[in-house]
Amino acid sequence: MHVDPQLYRKAFQAYLRKGTPIEWSIKQERPTTHYIWWSRRDRHTRPTHRARDGQVFSWDNPPDGGHPGEDYNCRCRAEPYHGDGQEYVTHDLKGIGGSNERWKNLDFVRHFFQGAGRGVTLSEIGHLSEIAELWAYRHGALERWTKQIIGEVREARLTAQFDRSYSFENVQFSHGGGVVKGSFSGVTQLVHGMRAIEGETAYEFSDIFTDPLDIREWITGDEIPDRAFNLTELNGTAYPVTGSWRSHLRAKVFAEEDMSAY
Ligand SMILES: [Zn+2]
Repeated sequence: MHVDPQLYRKAFQAYLRKGTPIEWSIKQERPTTHYIWWSRRDRHTRPTHRARDGQVFSWDNPPDGGHPGEDYNCRCRAEPYHGDGQEYVTHDLKGIGGSNERWKNLDFVRHFFQGAGRGVTLSEIGHLSEIAELWAYRHGALERWTKQIIGEVREARLTAQFDRSYSFENVQFSHGGGVVKGSFSGVTQLVHGMRAIEGETAYEFSDIFTDPLDIREWITGDEIPDRAFNLTELNGTAYPVTGSWRSHLRAKVFAEEDMSAY
């Protein structure tokens, strides 16, 4: 079964905006009169577009070259700009790019026999964006995490953490379960009864590929791969699979939880 991240991203963005009925596909819908310009900020970004980061533009008055995404090969995006008195939340994954060739189950197995236990990263095996997006949108974790962060900030805490295991078999059967840890750090400001929040979360994924037949996890209760090695005669070596990515949260919500949609 293939995961369609676009679908989940869209559903999530719709959720974030349920207080204000705004679609993420604002290029077509244009629900606000103005937007904030955001570039990708990588080496392919036009310097002129990068210079527009964070600036507010009107849908009725495009800058040179047009709105985000309209110029040739432009990957910039428009974020709805709201005036005062309206809540908004944007929470986007970062650092999940990359196009390494994607490992299939057979590649996991081959590395088990030939890799001598060397760890691999999700980026290296071409699974980073799928794992991060499955976590975020399919498991609904980014939605819960957003709520948790806003709750912590309302309680005057500027950091938050989580640490949980999830099933990632939809990305590749070999993943089975994996642990995702997240650590948020941000800043906040109270302005006219509204709380502005901005911050970053760093995520760490970890899993251990134990064996192609799931025999070891069954024998050892999924711990101590070295000991597990002695218990089977597969002549392979378990290896860690790790990965990291980030997300950026920008929000303005009512300071009073009762008044807020978040
Ligand atoms: Zn651009």
